Amino acid sequence: QLVLGIESSCDETGIGLVCTQRGLLAHRLFSQIDLHAAYGGVVPELASRDHVRRIVPLIRETMQAGGCTLQELDAIGYTTGPGLAGALLVGAAVGESLALALNIPAIPIHHLEGHLLSPMLSVTPPAFPFVALLVSGGHTQLMRVGAVGDYELLGESVDDAAGEAFDKTAKLLGLPYPGGPILSKLAGQGVAGKFKLPRPMLHSGDLMFSFSGLKTAVLTATKKPDFSAEQIPDLAAEFQEAVVDVLCAKARAALLQTGLSQLVVAGGVGANTRLRERLTKEISKRGGNVFFPELEYCSDNGAMIAFACAMRVQAGKAVPSVEGAFAIRPRWPLAEIGA
Ligand code: ATP
Ligand code: MG
Ligand code: FE
Repeated sequence: QLVLGIESSCDETGIGLVCTQRGLLAHRLFSQIDLHAAYGGVVPELASRDHVRRIVPLIRETMQAGGCTLQELDAIGYTTGPGLAGALLVGAAVGESLALALNIPAIPIHHLEGHLLSPMLSVTPPAFPFVALLVSGGHTQLMRVGAVGDYELLGESVDDAAGEAFDKTAKLLGLPYPGGPILSKLAGQGVAGKFKLPRPMLHSGDLMFSFSGLKTAVLTATKKPDFSAEQIPDLAAEFQEAVVDVLCAKARAALLQTGLSQLVVAGGVGANTRLRERLTKEISKRGGNVFFPELEYCSDNGAMIAFACAMRVQAGKAVPSVEGAFAIRPRWPLAEIGA
């Protein structure tokens, strides 16, 4: 079965082409970073308009790179939510129209399911069941993944997501957009421990997170009269260490609680070098295994949406939208999707 995947939930237009037998055949990504940089964040209206501009040429390129024609497609999966409404509508409208024209099913796909299954795109994929640590721009969640569509929420952030904390902290330190990756690069040049930041909810005894206080603590540190710009790398390093400490401890606790040994990390913060280092060391020390997506599949992309759709098709769990009556879900908890 040949599946096309469309991602347009935020500021990345992504297209993926997956064959249920042969795996990922091709994918293309257009990031709008330059478009939004001047505003210091994603401008929804500009994002939607740019998706409109990019999406059809990207589909053409992907099909060509994969050596397939549209007529060979068996299904089209598109991100239905969560995300920006106007941006989601572009992918939904294109996916639905194309499916209608080709007389094949259009399959609504949950964006987080795409992130969650993305480590399975790698050469050494994990097998079900596993614990997933989803750390993205909008979410920080621990989940028990039993099978495709079987997702049990174990814990999540009560306020900011980990990626959001990286981005907001970068912004208040005066770093350019997009802040997360830049902040983590600076952290690599500094020394953690010179500043003392809290490890929020480290000992809360559950699998919940909180990151908004950390951002405030960073702000307080920069307000001290003896604070100078040369100390930014040290402060960034301490901030990153605080986030990583909490993520590692809770991920370990989730493995203990579920009795599972495999941890899968997904989402943009999964690209963080320090997080990868620490998780790999600490989980393997305890006899567990950690799986990360390839770097290019950490943040938003079309390959993961095509792949999630293909896995659903293969498992007989692909639920097509009602023809002519598609809906987007800007807010959509993952636990609400059926198997
Ligand atoms: P969601 O998937 O929850 O809707 P999103 O799609 O915006 O949110 P992703 O694309 O998965 O999120 O990830 C983007 C986030 O990852 C941003 O917040 C970004 O700062 C963060 N990020 C990317 N690279 C790094 C890094 N090396 N270190 C820390 N954070 C990073
Ligand atoms: Mg993005
Ligand atoms: Fe995402």
